[in-house]
Parts: sequence; structure tokens; C-alpha cells
Amino acid sequence: MPALTDIAAVKALLARHDFHFSKAMGQNFLINPSVCPRMAEACGASVGSGVLEIGPGIGVLTEQLALRAAKVAAVELDSRLFPVLEETLSPYGNVTIIPGDVMKLDLPLLLQEQFGNMPVSVCANLPYYITSPIVMKLLESRLPVESITVMVQKEAAQRLCARPGTREAGAVTLAVQYYAEAQILFSVSRGSFLPAPNVDSAVIRLTIRREPPCAARNEAFLFRLIRAGFEQRRKTLPNSLGAAGLEKARILEALRETGLSETARAEELTLPQFAALANRLEK
Ligand code: SAM
Repeated sequence: MPALTDIAAVKALLARHDFHFSKAMGQNFLINPSVCPRMAEACGASVGSGVLEIGPGIGVLTEQLALRAAKVAAVELDSRLFPVLEETLSPYGNVTIIPGDVMKLDLPLLLQEQFGNMPVSVCANLPYYITSPIVMKLLESRLPVESITVMVQKEAAQRLCARPGTREAGAVTLAVQYYAEAQILFSVSRGSFLPAPNVDSAVIRLTIRREPPCAARNEAFLFRLIRAGFEQRRKTLPNSLGAAGLEKARILEALRETGLSETARAEELTLPQFAALANRLEK
């Protein structure tokens, strides 16, 4: 079978299956031959481990994962791709395609069913229209995985991996930090995809923490506070959190008690500072 990064072969394959790209499903397939092997290596796929992939497309990354891992389970939403995948992945007996929307699946159950007690990592070229929701679902499900290695838009990579307390940071940065250590591994140009998107991409790795980096008494409240702070990030915390329904006098008191300035903005706070503030406000 010709390589799944050979543009002419890929176009012929797709034409044979009468497949047309869906923008709505974020379909930009990798055609740069160096990217998938690099991602498969970076995610730590090995003979003793399993990999969960999201959105296999025509199987270009799946193939590289199957060559290295004991087992690959790949969740694909677009049923038009199933006959294509059946053809392209037929040489690999260790791949299971799971039809469905990753946002609707019970992922802890899926992992248990597919991998049992095997160590598992996640590796995917994510559909860009739901990058952050997928990343947050993977983290919040507290999957028993060691790392999540994903390709996302460059801007999303910068935000997900920003240093808290900097301008690049957003609510999602702090949420990611709570669960994982985030790192940009390498950039991927827009020309590496068919069709080429309007933006460049980057591969990031989230290494799951065993313990959160700060003690929050009520996680849900902490995340509510972070979201409220960043929703109006230009405002000072008494104003942004006040707009979210918290009493201003209590916010000012909690800021004083935690040693933070009354004019501080969400983007200036680190995760432990947000947690300290949340713990005070929750009292
Ligand atoms: N892995 C392939 C590659 O690198 O060439 C395809 C990546 S493409 C950016 C995203 C893939 O995710 C597509 O195959 C698309 O159909 C699939 N997809 C989109 N939304 C999805 C969802 N909610 N659940 C599962 N798969 C989804």
C-alpha cells in the first residue's frame, strides 16, 4: 500500500471512496511524512503500552502508533471514514476503531474495556473546532493515562502551555496546569496538511500530575472563580468576580487576607494564588 502521506495516493484513495473533506468536522489530514513518526515517538508508544487516538482520519498517525504500541483504540466521528480505515489499517491487527463522538463517550469505561490494566497514553491530531473542550474532557475525566500528546493550532498551543501569571495565559491555561505539566514539543507548518488550514500548528505534551500543584478545598468553585476572572480579564478582580455575583466587600477582604493587591487582574495570578483566594472566599 502506498504511504498515507503520498498526496497523489491519498487523493486517489479518497476519490475511490467518494470522500469529501468536512470543514465542520475539522478534517485536515497530515501529509508531511516526518510528523506522525515524531508524534508516535513523543507519546511514548511502546510494545507494552496502549494508545488512545481521537480522530484517526484515514489512519496516517494510527499506522505509526500501531507500529509501536501493543494496542491502539481510535475514536472517529465520521462514519464515511470507516471503509477507508478498514482498507488502510488492514495490515494492523492491533487497532480498534471506535465509532462515536469523543465528547459523548464514557472515556474511563472505554479505556478499561480496551486496555484493562495496560499503561495508556493519548495521541491525536485534534479537530480544531473543539480542541479545548476535548483537552478539558480528557483532563477532567481523570483518565488513568500518563500523558496526552496532541496537535493543536499554534495559538491554542501557546495558550494551553502559557506560564500562569503572563499575558498569554487564559482560564484554560490554569485549568490545564491543575491537572498536568504542559509543554510545546514542536511546530508544524500549515503546508503539512491536506487541505492546508489557514494557521500553523504545534504538537504539545501534557504530562499528567499525580497530585494537583495546589490545595483547593472545592475544585468546582476554584474553576468557577478562574473562569469569572478571565471572562473580563481587563477588569480588576473585585470587578470581574463582582460581575460574576460575588460580594465585592468579601472579595476585597479575601484579596487582603491572601496578600494580593486589590487591583490585581486574573492574568497576573498563579494557580496557587487563585486557589488561596478560592479557599478564602469559600469560607
Ligand atoms: N488523524 C488524522 C490526521 O492526522 O491526518 C485526522 C486528523 S483531523 C485534524 C481530525 C479528525 O477528527 C477527523 O478524522 C474528524 O473526522 C475527527 N473528528 C472530528 N470531530 C470528532 C469528534 N467529536 N469525535 C471524534 N472524532 C472527531
